[in-house]
Amino acid sequence: MQKPLMRIPYTGPLPPPNIIPRNANTITGAVAALSRFLTAPPSPSLSLSHGGSDPQSTVILSGAGISVASGLADYRGTNGTYRQNKTYRPIYYHEFLANHEARKRYWARSFLGWTNLHKAKPNSAHYAIKNLGDMGIVRSVITQNVDSFHSIAHPDIPTLELHGYLRALRCVTCHNDLPRETFQESLASLNPAWAEFLTEVIASGALDTENPAERSARGVKTNPDGDVDIPGAPYSTFRYPACPRCLANPPISGDGTQTIVEVDAEGGLEPTSTAGILKPAVVMFGESITNTVKEAAEQAIDGSGKLLVLGTSLATYSAWRLARRAKERGMPVGILNLGGVRGEEAFFQDLPMAQQGEAAVRADMGTDKVLPELVNQLRRSGFSTNVDVSDPADEPHTNNTIFKDVLS
Ligand SMILES: [Zn+2]
Repeated sequence: MQKPLMRIPYTGPLPPPNIIPRNANTITGAVAALSRFLTAPPSPSLSLSHGGSDPQSTVILSGAGISVASGLADYRGTNGTYRQNKTYRPIYYHEFLANHEARKRYWARSFLGWTNLHKAKPNSAHYAIKNLGDMGIVRSVITQNVDSFHSIAHPDIPTLELHGYLRALRCVTCHNDLPRETFQESLASLNPAWAEFLTEVIASGALDTENPAERSARGVKTNPDGDVDIPGAPYSTFRYPACPRCLANPPISGDGTQTIVEVDAEGGLEPTSTAGILKPAVVMFGESITNTVKEAAEQAIDGSGKLLVLGTSLATYSAWRLARRAKERGMPVGILNLGGVRGEEAFFQDLPMAQQGEAAVRADMGTDKVLPELVNQLRRSGFSTNVDVSDPADEPHTNNTIFKDVLS
């Protein structure tokens, strides 16, 4: 069977949700319902699939909405990419592989966008998940996000990055990973005029604001994949390096021929090269998720008794099918997302009449508003996190250090 490819999701608006239970339309009501959802005994309709599963535990499935409070754009929100940048069209994997000019454009924009992502930090929602892990409530996290905020905020909860991560590059020939920071330094030295421009953009404060309209007014647009668009920029002059490993020792290709890896005097990849192309370690549009990752995500769903969906409209098929799998296993599904979710009625059929969150929750609010309050509520009802309760989000220096560790 052919593996499903990452597709550009449906970009139109989704219908507004039905709130479940009805009093989950306030933060207090949503917190009460989610508290019941997470602490209720396992659903009697849950099918136990294997020995390693913990039916009392919850698996989280997150998306771009959870990183909005960190200053990153989502897709469908008020300031989301699809609303602010109607012409947004990410690069396809086959284009990236085939086209040197397309890669120049991609890396030029990504070079500028990386600073913004690199500076951004996890927010209170990510740290609330850490607390839920310490309480023994959350067993694992599956995220569609490529910002690595989950693993920074809660390194002790197993986290699967379904669509990869931007913290590293991967060689399409030898599959070696290269830290993004190293790569960023190479891009700066290969493109001094761009590096100077970046310094000016940073000095202008265009990347400091979380408001895409303000960024746009200063000539910069930022997309959720860390991509920055500068209208009229001379992308064709941009240079990018080769995979250092393939450059040092050009491999023999699958058909037995010697590959070519050529660079200019400073190290910029020449278009004559047939190997050693680096790509971001994310699943690009038109690329498929590896079977290893796909199976690990399914195991994470099967290993828990409940699914909590956070900050995603489930518009990508890879995420939606995991939620469907959970529902088919009889797992109660909770969704906390600002705005509609693809086909969400299917997750909330045949609910017990008087249920107050034990069987399902649907709240239409930001994760950073609700999850910290949820943690407080659970503490009041006796759950312990066994750790310092101060909000680590107030200590940016600590977080930066952790981020650097993840990058190294
Ligand atoms: Zn390589």
